[in-house]
Amino acid sequence: MARIQSIRGMNDILPTETPLWQYLEGRIRDVLSRYGYSEIRFPIVEHTELFKRSIGEVTDIVEKEMYTFEDRNGDSLTLRPEGTASCVRACDQNGLLHNQIQRLWYTGPMFRHERPQKGRLRQFHQVGVETFGMTGPDIDAELILLSARLWRELGISDALTLELNSIGNAESRANYRQALVDYLSGFKADLDEDSLRRLGSNPLRILDTKDPKTREILLGAPVLADYLDEVSRAHFVGLCARLDAAGIPYKLNPQLVRGLDYYGLTVFEWTTDKLGAQGTVCAGGRYDGLVEQLGGKPTPAVGFAMGIERLCLLLETLAVAPAIPALADVFIVSVGDGAEIAALTLAEAIRTALPTARVLINCGGGSFKSQFKKADKSGAALAIVLGEDELAQGHAAVKSLRDSQSEQQLVALAELPDYIGKHFFTKF
Ligand code: ATP
Ligand code: MG
Repeated sequence: MARIQSIRGMNDILPTETPLWQYLEGRIRDVLSRYGYSEIRFPIVEHTELFKRSIGEVTDIVEKEMYTFEDRNGDSLTLRPEGTASCVRACDQNGLLHNQIQRLWYTGPMFRHERPQKGRLRQFHQVGVETFGMTGPDIDAELILLSARLWRELGISDALTLELNSIGNAESRANYRQALVDYLSGFKADLDEDSLRRLGSNPLRILDTKDPKTREILLGAPVLADYLDEVSRAHFVGLCARLDAAGIPYKLNPQLVRGLDYYGLTVFEWTTDKLGAQGTVCAGGRYDGLVEQLGGKPTPAVGFAMGIERLCLLLETLAVAPAIPALADVFIVSVGDGAEIAALTLAEAIRTALPTARVLINCGGGSFKSQFKKADKSGAALAIVLGEDELAQGHAAVKSLRDSQSEQQLVALAELPDYIGKHFFTKF
């Protein structure tokens, strides 16, 4: 019978890959906790309406990428394509927003029906960071500093560029929108199909197009920066001043608009030229209007999300991923029924006495020779050998697997955990 395969673009993350994921997730958690951020968890499935109303009907995500289905009650549900909408829903529903400051993060899989390729999957993973209740540019700056620190600590700063823009508040955008539509209307015959459609529905998204001809037309288009009102401009100047003071370089990119409708004022992306076409590893911005748009009280908010797969790829490409650690420190070799049983209890005694020691036992029999092969492969520094002879004397042999000069020692079973702790694993 044919084997059932995983869904295209939805990858398994294999045991050889999880150490890198755990390392990356560990560093992210560490940095987030040093900035005082708390974790929030919310469901993977939400009412479709939540994403339509937040991300926007006329966006790539909602138009073409969502995994939407009817459940058995006939309700339209969607696998979350991103986390911000769900985070806002969860916070508002649980009363975390009114008159409060929140600094939150989450992690987990997101789902988008895109064309799978390097750095672009249908199930991918993000760590998202969202903050609520703060209007000033200082929190925008904090988020950027936090991400910059993470890149520094991961050793990938040199490969990343911060692209920054302000898309202004709603009034500024409305004024600009009109100017952009007026300009682009003169080129209707030359616009790509998507952009032509968006001219009537969501013209700002045209700035984000990848169509070469439309890109060329855009070179002469009015620039959003010229349409920012005083309030928007002051916010952006304030953010830039903070980044300058902190010594964070950035590149102003007036065409950066982001693919989600809820953004206003600050938008930013961390990009790299090391991953080919999928070069954005982290992206975010301010979304002061979203909470209200979803039925809550007006609440200022700003956040970002980073793509874990792309960060893993970048760590590997730059060869800054840590070496995969050995599976075990101690491997217990045992031959014979009695020795197997003794190995099991001895392993438990070592784990109790030396809580950070990683102890593997041989399971499933085999000769001394084949077990030593497994011991070697495990990466363990030490083998403990239990045969019927040793057992009869209440002893085990302790042997270094990495130091061929060292002699094998016979040690009484009851003293083994202590002996190992003293002689081999002072780090424990
Ligand atoms: P892109 O421009 O690459 O399509 P996006 O603007 O759609 O990204 P966001 O929705 O802002 O991306 O998501 C934040 C981050 O999540 C991205 O910068 C990227 O690192 C990651 N990401 C987004 N979509 C995918 C995907 N299909 N596969 C893998 N990672 C993704
Ligand atoms: Mg996208």
